[in-house]
Amino acid sequence: MASSLNKYLAHSLDTIRRANWYRQEKLITGLPSAIVEMEGQKLVNFASNDYLGLAGDKRLIWAATDAIHKYGTGSTGSRLLSGHRSLHDTLEKSIADWKKTEKALVFSSGYTANIGTISALVNQKDLILADKYNHSSLKNGAKLSQAHTLNYPHCDTKDLVKQLTLHRSNYRHCLIITDSVFSMDGDLCPLPELIAIAQKFDCWLLIDEAHATGVIGESGAGSLEHFQVEGDNIIQIGTLSKAIGSLGGYVAGSSVLIDFLRNRCPTWIYTTALSPADTAAAIAGIEVIRSESERKNKLWQNINTFKKQLESLNLDIFPSDSAIICLKSKTAEKALKTSKKLHEEGFFAPAIRPPTVPTSRIRFSLMETHKTPYFRDLCDYLQVS
Ligand SMILES: *Cc1c(COP(=O)(O)O)cnc(C)c1O
Repeated sequence: MASSLNKYLAHSLDTIRRANWYRQEKLITGLPSAIVEMEGQKLVNFASNDYLGLAGDKRLIWAATDAIHKYGTGSTGSRLLSGHRSLHDTLEKSIADWKKTEKALVFSSGYTANIGTISALVNQKDLILADKYNHSSLKNGAKLSQAHTLNYPHCDTKDLVKQLTLHRSNYRHCLIITDSVFSMDGDLCPLPELIAIAQKFDCWLLIDEAHATGVIGESGAGSLEHFQVEGDNIIQIGTLSKAIGSLGGYVAGSSVLIDFLRNRCPTWIYTTALSPADTAAAIAGIEVIRSESERKNKLWQNINTFKKQLESLNLDIFPSDSAIICLKSKTAEKALKTSKKLHEEGFFAPAIRPPTVPTSRIRFSLMETHKTPYFRDLCDYLQVS
């Protein structure tokens, strides 16, 4: 007889399957690259966050293997106990220097950086105002914090001001939370306005730079550099796992913010320090990004070429300010069908459907290592589909 646990789980899975929401991992073999081998088929990869092609770069691989030889595979403990190494200091200094903040702190992932930081900063006495399209880690961080959380419509600063006018005075602190580059849309938050609003209503501003780091701004430092703005009370969070080509997350901000997190942030205190290999690869990744600006320039050439080709075909795309470009699909079924067809033609681009997003789309992530003919072939195909 099935146990009640398995019975319940099997029933839930049935519901997920019936709704066409059932998902499964797909096996990729070999080094990360613009062309990948998936289940025996060679595909042009439009589903990778490795925007600058660094996850398979020799220099990062060397840095990681060298660190393993020197420091071993595991960091053996949390940062405050036995896990702290000079590599962590080097990486944190490098991030702070790049982001032009006093300090930075590295986490096991961007996800844990977000949930830990948000829940360390605010509680029941406080208010969170969050963009409706925020990443799952920001949403769950808000939940975990137990702060009163209100959403504002995507990038709608008018509505944000309205809600702050109504509610701000009932709470002690207020944290505005937003992706800088939105992960499922590719557009940018209205950062200068958000900074002004935060100042006016005495709020703190937390921005998630996961898809901005390495991609936007003169040196790839992200959205503050892109808009050439500064501000007090800003907490910048990001990941080492996308353009930087490694694994892990970071928080960048004032010395006192970092010192506070070291003493109050559960997802930093009670977890094992970032491994030597991941830490060393991230140091090398940032070095490459900062010294080889041509990589980011090439990525942007690719983005602009692809966008122009899509537009010349009158294909309907979402507004984008990043390496994420989404093609609108009328229905979830149509999106699935297009994605499947693309796969057969040798292109890997996922269909993103409700409930992940409000409207269905095919999502393309561009890489520096994509070659122009890929876009032409893809557009030729999209034109006839
Ligand atoms: C990927 C992502 C994260 C999580 O980062 P990981 O390092 O992969 O855990 C957080 N926020 C956004 C917007 C992301 O896209």
